[in-house]
Amino acid sequence: MDILKKLFSSNGSPSLLFHGAAGTVTGSMHLLRAGETILALDCGLFQGRRAEALERNSTFPLDPKRVDALLLSHAHIDHSGNIPRLVRRGFKGRVYCTPATGDLCEIMLADSAHIQEEDAEYWNRKRARTPAEHIRPLYTLEDAHAAMKQFQQMPISQSFAAGDGVSVTFIEAGHILGSACVLVEVGDKTPIRILYTGDLGRFDMPILRDPVEPLPEVDYLITECTYADRRHHNPTDMKERLVKVVKETAARGGKIVIPSFSVGRTQNVVHYLVRAIHEGLIEPLPIFVDSPLSTRATDVFQRHPECYDAEAREFWMNAGGGDLFGQHGLVTYVTETAESKALNARNDPHVIVASSGMCEAGRILHHLKNTVWDEKNTICVVGYMAQHTLGRRIVERRRELKIFGRAYPLMARVEVMNGFSAHADQDDFVRLLGPLAPKLRGAFVVHGEGPQPAAMERILREAGCQNVHAPQPGNTFALDG
Ligand SMILES: [Zn+2]
Repeated sequence: MDILKKLFSSNGSPSLLFHGAAGTVTGSMHLLRAGETILALDCGLFQGRRAEALERNSTFPLDPKRVDALLLSHAHIDHSGNIPRLVRRGFKGRVYCTPATGDLCEIMLADSAHIQEEDAEYWNRKRARTPAEHIRPLYTLEDAHAAMKQFQQMPISQSFAAGDGVSVTFIEAGHILGSACVLVEVGDKTPIRILYTGDLGRFDMPILRDPVEPLPEVDYLITECTYADRRHHNPTDMKERLVKVVKETAARGGKIVIPSFSVGRTQNVVHYLVRAIHEGLIEPLPIFVDSPLSTRATDVFQRHPECYDAEAREFWMNAGGGDLFGQHGLVTYVTETAESKALNARNDPHVIVASSGMCEAGRILHHLKNTVWDEKNTICVVGYMAQHTLGRRIVERRRELKIFGRAYPLMARVEVMNGFSAHADQDDFVRLLGPLAPKLRGAFVVHGEGPQPAAMERILREAGCQNVHAPQPGNTFALDG
């Protein structure tokens, strides 16, 4: 049946259509029809092999012109990265998000467009055998700029109207700067309440406020389940471990290289280092953040103190003198390539934080090439390393690493720190979603693969909700009042 007919077949009741991140973790996009209004929940980039990604990111479940507004939970590319494509295909509505999410999207969508353009250019020049095989980028920098004009920033915790009889409130999710759960209330008298978690964060993360507790009671829940069967290490232990690694490596006369995602992880690591220097836990040493995107993202973090938790605010106002990320001199933010290359010549103990997070591209490769073969140095792994990446081979402590086509022995120490994850784990889900479960009429589990959706179904059933679904792309559901 035609998707629009399916969405409207529930007559008066609102209905949901699952499209992306159903049975997988990227390309988040769900549609909610309430009355005549059609709202999209997120519009993320599907990440995978080139041909499949191009196909899936180009296909929308219905004509984008028919979508009235988009409710964006947070800036991560797997939730926001297909918005420029949606706009290029005719979406004219507003993109509602929190102020920090809007500002992060401005730099992240531009960066994503740049990657899309470069990737298409590379394919057309090196791989395509005939002009017929040439591809166009999914979207361009121009598309990303055009999409930003439709963004409308809304303060967190304040309700606003997103359509006829549809009220929306963003609720702190504690996942990345600006991240929110989305509460949608449909109808005026006894509204049907729906909560979309976006990505849920964790308690006691540096800088950010914790997820809101308790979450509001709702009739329907759409929840992520990325780590529903895992338990993370405590984030506050990570500062102590960083301090230890920096001290030991500096005492050996070595350097510390930290591969890191530019948005979120880099700021957490740098903030812990800055704090440790302020507290006298480590001697000041040169710290370099070597990534133009990280530098821009840090500026956005600096501009949004309204997102900080009490501890970060206290440091910001007093001990830290308004400088959470060492931008006033403790940390050097490197943007120029020549400056980045000059770091190779340094022999003194220092710290380099660079991207990409999984060591597949970017400036981190040059730094690793100059680091891995010397036992004085330490490579500090602070993020997830997917299979078949250089980062994974470092975690596995392979004896030899191939970088830019040449083999280097891995002699440097490798420290793996798992506590920096920005995602809720099993205990966080039980704590945050458990209290909602007994009153839920239904729950939908998305943004998970392998054993994760089943683990989340178990959590919700044990907490008292029996009507739990793990939808597949194209599934629709009527939400009865
Ligand atoms: Zn996320």
